[in-house]
Amino acid sequence: MLKIGKSLFNTAQILASELKAIGLFPTTGIARTGVAAELGRKGDPAVMLLADMDALPSQIVPGGNAHACGHHAQMSVALAVFRALAETKAAEALGLRVIFAASPAEEYVDLGRRLDLRRNKEIVYLSGKQEMIRLGFFNDPQIVLKYHSMGDSPERVATVNGSMNGFLAKRAEFIGRAAHAGAQPEKGVNALSAASLALQAIHAQRESFVENDHIRVHPILTQGGTVVNSVPDRAVLETYIRGAYHEAVLAAASKVDRALRAGALALGAGLSIANTPGYQAFYPDPGLGAILGEAATAVVDKRYIDFDYRSYASDDIGDVACLQPTCQLRFSGFSGEIHSADFAAKEPERAYMKPAEILLRTVMALGADKGATARGILTSFSPRFTVSGYLESLDQLFSTLEFHGEAL
Ligand SMILES: [Zn+2]
Ligand SMILES: [Zn+2]
Repeated sequence: MLKIGKSLFNTAQILASELKAIGLFPTTGIARTGVAAELGRKGDPAVMLLADMDALPSQIVPGGNAHACGHHAQMSVALAVFRALAETKAAEALGLRVIFAASPAEEYVDLGRRLDLRRNKEIVYLSGKQEMIRLGFFNDPQIVLKYHSMGDSPERVATVNGSMNGFLAKRAEFIGRAAHAGAQPEKGVNALSAASLALQAIHAQRESFVENDHIRVHPILTQGGTVVNSVPDRAVLETYIRGAYHEAVLAAASKVDRALRAGALALGAGLSIANTPGYQAFYPDPGLGAILGEAATAVVDKRYIDFDYRSYASDDIGDVACLQPTCQLRFSGFSGEIHSADFAAKEPERAYMKPAEILLRTVMALGADKGATARGILTSFSPRFTVSGYLESLDQLFSTLEFHGEAL
């Protein structure tokens, strides 16, 4: 089982000491390791520079974690913009309240451990931003800006106003019976065989998915036996069910449940499915997207900016965007594949400097006319949920389905 990385506490400590160095008193320990600080006057329209903190567990990197999603670049860029605003006292001059927030646990992984933390009441929700919403960080009206790195492509340097899939996540535990794998396998119930049949049954659903729903189902086996000479009595599968709309995700999720049950039924194994909410599909605020787009155009030739990018990945920024006007800038300058251990900043000018300049220009544009532009974005935004309604919707998506194994 993975332990929370020492590196994550180190990251929080570095961010806190950088903020203290510019004379601020950061809040730390948000959702365990998050860090926040703010500039400007209470009552002025607020802009949050939000950054993810976490790396991805990797089995091929020494230390076991790799910044394979570029979150290190996000933190650097958000902090650089925030520091520039602090050191020049620009927030007050612009008539803006500016918040820096680093949120942990964007990568929705290692569900068993997170569900244990939830059971032990150390957390309530499984992602950093969901916990920040619960803790009240998104109660007050505020504009949210975020940067995310992306892989290189010759025709696209940056994306603004991009949307993303939402998802639900499942952790399925197949319960079998151990027996000697050579001497008496007939006395066992093979949980791995049940899980592998379930995988095949999930794959067979794909032709039933509707193209425009953008469904992605990508299960992995996180446990498939303990010792080679015993019939595996436990196998664990984790999967996301992603899609462009919640209803489409729910429909695909019920097919996945059917497939999981089919595997268990065939072997007579037991099955326990833990359903967790995953993330909302991300739809950015178009007014804010126009301002971000203008700032990007001042820095990059607009032929190389995608203003309407559709990603099939997901991010808990989608949850934030249900409550507050939100946009995400994506920028290139990296080599390797995103979510692969070889992903690295190749050109610092592109990976760090240009996105920082674009976000800084965006904040300055929001402060035009003493914050009037920011105020306009905030007043024309209609949230999809109230904060309490959003939290209730998360609560409803936690459930456990249990099936008794006939052969047990
Ligand atoms: Zn990622
Ligand atoms: Zn990411």
